[in-house]
Amino acid sequence: MRDHYDVAIIGGGIIGHAISYYLNKSGVRAVVIEKGASGSKATKAAAGMLGVHTEHQASDSYHQFCQHSRNLYQDLSKELHALTAIDIGLSPFGMMEIAMNETHKQELLEKKHAFTSLEWLDAEQVRDKVSALPQEVSGALYMSKDGHVEPAATCEALKRAALLHGGDLLENTNVLEITKTEDIFTVQLENASLAASHVVAASGSDSGRWFEAAGMANPIVPVKGECFSIKPGRHYFKEALFFKDFYIVPKPDGRYIVGATSNTGDLSTGTTAGGLADLMHRVFAVFPELKKEPMQEFWSGVRPGSVDGLPIIGEHPAVTGFYFATGHYRNGILLAPATGRMMKDLITKQDVRQDFREMLSPERFEKERSIQL
Ligand SMILES: Cc1cc2nc3c(=O)[nH]c(=O)nc-3n(C[C@H](O)[C@H](O)[C@H](O)COP(=O)(O)OP(=O)(O)OC[C@H]3O[C@@H](n4cnc5c(N)ncnc54)[C@H](O)[C@@H]3O)c2cc1C
Repeated sequence: MRDHYDVAIIGGGIIGHAISYYLNKSGVRAVVIEKGASGSKATKAAAGMLGVHTEHQASDSYHQFCQHSRNLYQDLSKELHALTAIDIGLSPFGMMEIAMNETHKQELLEKKHAFTSLEWLDAEQVRDKVSALPQEVSGALYMSKDGHVEPAATCEALKRAALLHGGDLLENTNVLEITKTEDIFTVQLENASLAASHVVAASGSDSGRWFEAAGMANPIVPVKGECFSIKPGRHYFKEALFFKDFYIVPKPDGRYIVGATSNTGDLSTGTTAGGLADLMHRVFAVFPELKKEPMQEFWSGVRPGSVDGLPIIGEHPAVTGFYFATGHYRNGILLAPATGRMMKDLITKQDVRQDFREMLSPERFEKERSIQL
């Protein structure tokens, strides 16, 4: 551990490590401080979908930010593999959003109208790809570029690559407090402190306290999600499948991840029998064949949502050098590369697209200025 860093990043999830990767790669010395083990919270719970078109319906700046991040994964996966020998599992098979009734079909056809690059598959074409689907299937939108990655491997690769570029990591280290004197931040740990010229709060669903400590209203909305996986001995389909109220993501090691429940305000850990039963009910209504497959694992995590549904990426409106990178809700895996790049560009004073900067700025939550930092 050094006495002084250019940047101290609070939180070692995929967002913190992506920021550290891009900063250290460009010669800015950054340390990630993680209170537990890296990637063990929301990041570990994610299915890893790069759902540019499933998560957001409008063709706007946020859609472009999502698309930009998904595109960054192409080179990033190669860079990370070259540096760390870790395969982040970037799937080339795309995603399908499947309609099981006429109403949903009409919604998807409208979406196809907004995003002309997407392909419409009729019921027969869908069943050619996914034979286990019942006759009622009405069609699907095929998103050939929206694949998925393995979140734990991606986080680990970003972590190791940042270290190889000269970064530091303090695990099992809780950040208790941050104070600022003149231009230097003091980051108070349990038995030590360190100094930094910039601080980034990338603390996932725990990020709210840093807004409050910096005199702002807390915009973070925790949303718990539960998942399970099965590991059949055969291949059912290659694409990630997205339905109205569940998804199934096939992983290269033969697992099929099924998700997810959604419980706003729930910060509890552990998986509930009721949550899993509810999820299974939805899945087996469409895929009865999967009932016989061996159950592998179940788990939960808390998504860091925000009050307006958008991430919060940018500098505190009144505390120069103090940044937020949080609120990624259901899209933190998708948005990690774009967030890491944008934070590097903000801190090193490079150009950042004006619409991205404004859309994601913490300033939109500013209410009071009783700064304690
Ligand atoms: C069930 C589920 C499925 C999901 N599926 C997808 C998906 O398919 N695609 C997708 O893009 N996204 C998905 N997500 C969302 C994604 O997981 C999150 O948006 C993303 O992981 C957020 O990353 P993060 O680094 O901000 O948070 P986290 O991974 O939670 O990391 C924050 C870290 O900060 C640390 N921390 C907090 N406070 C302190 C402190 N005081 N000191 C030190 N460290 C601290 C925590 O210990 C934690 O490790 C899913 C989430 C869930 C729960």
